[in-house]
Amino acid sequence: MAYKISEDCISCGACEPECPVSVISAGDTQYVIDADGCIECGACANVCPVDAPKPE
Ligand code: SF4
Ligand code: SF4
Repeated sequence: MAYKISEDCISCGACEPECPVSVISAGDTQYVIDADGCIECGACANVCPVDAPKPE
């Protein structure tokens, strides 16, 4: 169950440096997670101000 960033993302960038496996990147309209590499640690969700990353 990889994490996915919802459309609530405001592209603040806080989550990107927190990911231990560097699978978060800035997409065209919001930040995105490469689900294949996500190890479900929850670090992104812990720092997100709008609670956008959620386990799928
Ligand atoms: Fe990265 Fe962890 Fe978030 Fe997955 S849950 S995208 S591994 S910070
Ligand atoms: Fe988007 Fe939350 Fe990441 Fe900021 S911390 S870029 S709002 S998912």
